[in-house]
Amino acid sequence: MFATYILHDESLLNEIAQATTSNPFAIEIMARLNNPSQEMQSSDLSHFTTQDGLLYHNHLLYVPAGTCRTRVLQTCHDDPLVGHFGVAKTLELISRGFWWPQPWKLVKEFIKTCDVCARSKAAHHRPYGLLHPLPIPSRPWASLSMDFIIDLPRVGDHDTECHSTGYGCHGSQHKLSDDMDIV
Ligand SMILES: [Zn+2]
Repeated sequence: MFATYILHDESLLNEIAQATTSNPFAIEIMARLNNPSQEMQSSDLSHFTTQDGLLYHNHLLYVPAGTCRTRVLQTCHDDPLVGHFGVAKTLELISRGFWWPQPWKLVKEFIKTCDVCARSKAAHHRPYGLLHPLPIPSRPWASLSMDFIIDLPRVGDHDTECHSTGYGCHGSQHKLSDDMDIV
């Protein structure tokens, strides 16, 4: 159903047809197909056919690079009917009607830069709990907190600081020093 829907998008097909007329890859393949006696014929061409000014690879419509390829990606990924599937499923939807060389590269890149996917990925966990104050330590150094400060300007091999703080009083047998280490 989805393939029927997208393959009957007249404005998209017109845009692909328009882009095909000025696409060097399509022009070259179509020229070779239209001239079977040419020396440049090769077995690679057996996958291609041409019809009504459009180029097909194994019966899938070739989509030239540019805005029409982006439209196909958007339709197969962002459309409310499909709803932001991952790389494999998006590729599968594309391959129901369309083709261009190494489609997975562009699909990966496209999904990586998709805002909706990035946002929904960040929300795939239980809601954060409320903050609770720390209990008051019952004895010296009973509570120790550590904080890591990362991505600092690099000093030698280090770019992270670890701050550890003991709560309580002094002189305890559990004594740890308040310190600041570069780890
Ligand atoms: Zn997405």
